[in-house]
Amino acid sequence: MSAISRFDPVAELSDNVRTKFYIGGQWRTPASRETLELVSPVTEEITLRVPAGMPADMDAAVKAARQAFDRGEWPRLSPQQRGACLERLAGELRKREDILRRLWIAQVGVPRWFADAFTGLGAVYLDYYGAMANTYEFETERKVAMGRAKVVKEPVGVAALIVPWNTPLILLTQKLGPALLAGCTTVIKPSPETPLDALLLAECADAAGLPPGVINVVPSGRETGDWLIRQPAVDKVSFTGSTAAGKHIASVCADRLARVSLELGGKSASIICDDADLQQWLNTTAAFTMPFSGQICFSQSRVLVPKKRHDEVLDAFTTAIGGMTVGDPWQQTTHIGPVSMARQRDRVMGYIEAGKKEGARVVLGGGGVPGLDRGYFVAPTVFDRVTNDMKIAQEEIFGPVVSVISYENDEEAIRIANDSVYGLSGTVFSSDPDRAERIARRIRTGNISINGLQIDPCCPFGGYKQSGMGREGGPEGLQPYLELKTIYLPA
Ligand code: NAD
Repeated sequence: MSAISRFDPVAELSDNVRTKFYIGGQWRTPASRETLELVSPVTEEITLRVPAGMPADMDAAVKAARQAFDRGEWPRLSPQQRGACLERLAGELRKREDILRRLWIAQVGVPRWFADAFTGLGAVYLDYYGAMANTYEFETERKVAMGRAKVVKEPVGVAALIVPWNTPLILLTQKLGPALLAGCTTVIKPSPETPLDALLLAECADAAGLPPGVINVVPSGRETGDWLIRQPAVDKVSFTGSTAAGKHIASVCADRLARVSLELGGKSASIICDDADLQQWLNTTAAFTMPFSGQICFSQSRVLVPKKRHDEVLDAFTTAIGGMTVGDPWQQTTHIGPVSMARQRDRVMGYIEAGKKEGARVVLGGGGVPGLDRGYFVAPTVFDRVTNDMKIAQEEIFGPVVSVISYENDEEAIRIANDSVYGLSGTVFSSDPDRAERIARRIRTGNISINGLQIDPCCPFGGYKQSGMGREGGPEGLQPYLELKTIYLPA
């Protein structure tokens, strides 16, 4: 199979997307000449410089969003009218799906099979919330002691949407869909490594006829992001990223009681019961322990194996992972590409060294990829003889590194899975669905799948413990963008 045509940012992106910010329905010239550098994870070369947002740009974006919320039509449209806008926005996104797919590969080196499978999810999330306009109860009536009361759900106000670099479009639409359906106006801060998806989405908003100020996009680094979350005109912050940044953002928002929701890191466990179908486990786990080089929050980075099946599982797993092609993410035959940036490579290599020092045994990988000297390639790495107190079992590596941990019985597997500050995802494999469900119910994570791994837009996604606060997806994902108001009608 051959590579698809790569990405030429100058030929394929408009001047607006490459050189401006989208504020108040217009493409605005940035306040400063500071730039963000986009670096190819495959060649390590700078592919494009785009403007970096400064507080002055963010200030203009916050003012535009505030004005659109306080005086514009958006919050006052009916949910059905906003839902129709969302569906038009999804349609515009679909028209640009090919470019968005290739942009994703170019910016962060996501392998082509993964981009092919998941780029479309961005439009799916917008459509999902667009359709919810027809079913969600924004208003209910109750009998009260002195007559009747209405309980109405109103938009929370101006929402700052802050997203990381790994799946920038999907994570953004998971926030934008419910925020817009609720009637919020938004300031979007994409990460400095992946600024372009959100700017392309701004082009879609223009084409879909969204009123000015409803969507504002200013890519920036962390400092300007920090400025954004402190603004009194921002009513709500919705953040996806690292637990460390999430704790800081929560504390800043707590100080002024701004609404905040957080989607953070994970250290998910895949539990194989002694009666599990090994091939079924492999089909899921070989792909999803290390999807996108493990740079996905729900990566199953701890594999929990019953002692009596240890050798069989480890052999099958290392054979499956070892047989995967590591290389150029543009090739259809590549399963695992590079990690996305130099600091990711250094971070992951640091954890691999820590694992070796702690006494875990490398059974696959354990360093760079022979023959791939250019690009941020890290060999898929499997550690055996890991104990759950080791750093590699406790901390989120966000790289292609899996720890295999042995257990004696179901009780011990549950204890190990729950022995984590994180609580995002997990899987349980057993030929007895009741047993698997009993285990799943005792795992303290926001999501868990049995005999596979699923994430569906109609169900809430999010974390227990330090994996986050609040949920995205499903009707539950709309609630963080709504305030409740009770109106007591005349007695
Ligand atoms: P990060 O926390 O460094 O940055 C995420 C985003 O937040 C970026 O846009 C960054 O510029 C911005 N940011 C950082 N500090 C900020 C501050 N003080 N104020 C405002 N904005 C700030 O995370 P990252 O390295 O880009 O992403 C990887 C992390 O994201 C991993 O921990 C991963 O698990 C997590 N993640 C979680 C989910 C989920 O749904 N739970 C999904 C994807 C990624």
